[in-house]
Amino acid sequence: MTYFSIDPDRRIVFCDFDGTIACNDVLVLACETFAPDVTARVMPQLYNLELSLRVGVRQLVEAIPSDRYGAMLELARSQPLRPGLSQFIDFLDEQGVEFVVVSGGIRGLVEAALGDLADRAVGIHAMDVDTTGEYLAVRSEFEGEVELVDKLQVVSRYLGKPLPTGGFTNANWVAIGDSVTDLNMAMAAPTVFARSRLKQSAEDLSGGAGSGVHAV
Ligand SMILES: [Mg+2]
Repeated sequence: MTYFSIDPDRRIVFCDFDGTIACNDVLVLACETFAPDVTARVMPQLYNLELSLRVGVRQLVEAIPSDRYGAMLELARSQPLRPGLSQFIDFLDEQGVEFVVVSGGIRGLVEAALGDLADRAVGIHAMDVDTTGEYLAVRSEFEGEVELVDKLQVVSRYLGKPLPTGGFTNANWVAIGDSVTDLNMAMAAPTVFARSRLKQSAEDLSGGAGSGVHAV
């Protein structure tokens, strides 16, 4: 793995996209819109845990015809973002804290939805899609065993190798997320801002309210 320059004093916020920055899950919306039949079949299997995210999300995305990619970007551009995002990034800038977007979705959709704000992130990490074939093909630099984007691999790029205990030597980072796909990142983070599903999952796993987990 290639690590970015590791500075132990670096302060970073790692923020999920779908359901966290974007009010809706833009990836699921795109799959429902552009591959409705496969989405209707695969989504229940994902919810039932019959399929891993790595396998199921790949099936969903790779069922979308490449010629619909432009329309997907249009759909993403129309999606509402949480109010206050731009002020939040301004605040982080003033405090000298870097803002990194880490998404299990498609980078192009994330960038389209963020619009001008995309340039304010020091990094946007997500899966890429190859549009040269008849259907989209997933390309993920951070593919893990169970997810197409293993968010801890992204965190490691910035903070170095995880400690044997699961955390990192750098204690100056924050994870923000909304769901189980943020759980590994949240469990390793010294401070977490979690929407309800993630807060519940983190509490279930740690056997009670984690001291660093804050509801948002
Ligand atoms: Mg999410």
